Amino acid sequence: MTLVIATRNAHKVQEIRAILGRHYRYLTLDDFVAAPPIREDGESFEENALKKSTGLVRWLHTHPKFQAPLEAGGQSGQSRIHVLADDSGLEVDALDGAPGVNSARFAHLGSSIPGNAPDAANNNLLLSALKGVPEERRTARFKCVLALSPFETGNELRRNADLFGTILEKRSLIVSGTCEGRIAFGPSGAGGFGYDPLFIPDGHQQSFAELGEQVKNRLSHRARALTLLRKWLDEQTKN
Ligand code: IMP
Repeated sequence: MTLVIATRNAHKVQEIRAILGRHYRYLTLDDFVAAPPIREDGESFEENALKKSTGLVRWLHTHPKFQAPLEAGGQSGQSRIHVLADDSGLEVDALDGAPGVNSARFAHLGSSIPGNAPDAANNNLLLSALKGVPEERRTARFKCVLALSPFETGNELRRNADLFGTILEKRSLIVSGTCEGRIAFGPSGAGGFGYDPLFIPDGHQQSFAELGEQVKNRLSHRARALTLLRKWLDEQTKN
């Protein structure tokens, strides 16, 4: 089975591959550099994850000349290709769930700068928003929603874009994972990405960035969602 991971975030790709293991052939958006960015303007992680997975499937269908990477490696291209998208973020209780779906662009919100903000800027803004908030009220959680959409060649429905989009959404699998923790008073550690230097998972005294890849990949929101996904994929490969 081929999994096309619909992200340009190398950290996400690395975590997904490490957790799902070697059973699959992986492609990423680096294999489809012409694919346009998807507007992540949904109100929930689910909505954005689906936008990313179905958006790439639809683009692949309408741009057959860019499908070559799907066929390489001796794949028949008939039913064993899925696009996998991850939408994730941090919810902080003292900020009523912010930054949430805006996690990647938190420090750019309300400015005229488009797109994602640098991790350091997001982390600094989070720390200043929580200034004076005591430890017991710094509770937070990471959430990860994965959407898996099938790519099937020869699907005549794709000529009707609206109908195809609706059916594709219904045929997509959604799984999610959460990791509870709290926000530290300052950054620590060099591993991971995003808010990892500030996030201390429950049961630990160090941030994800300090705990390192192996520990993070056992207990993270992404690991939990991917464990559910792997169960589902294992069932499919048996059939
Ligand atoms: P997305 O690419 O739109 O899903 O944005 C996800 C954003 O949420 C990232 O840019 C990070 O800021 C944050 N995020 C998601 N997962 C993690 C994680 O595992 N560690 C740290 N930050 C994360």
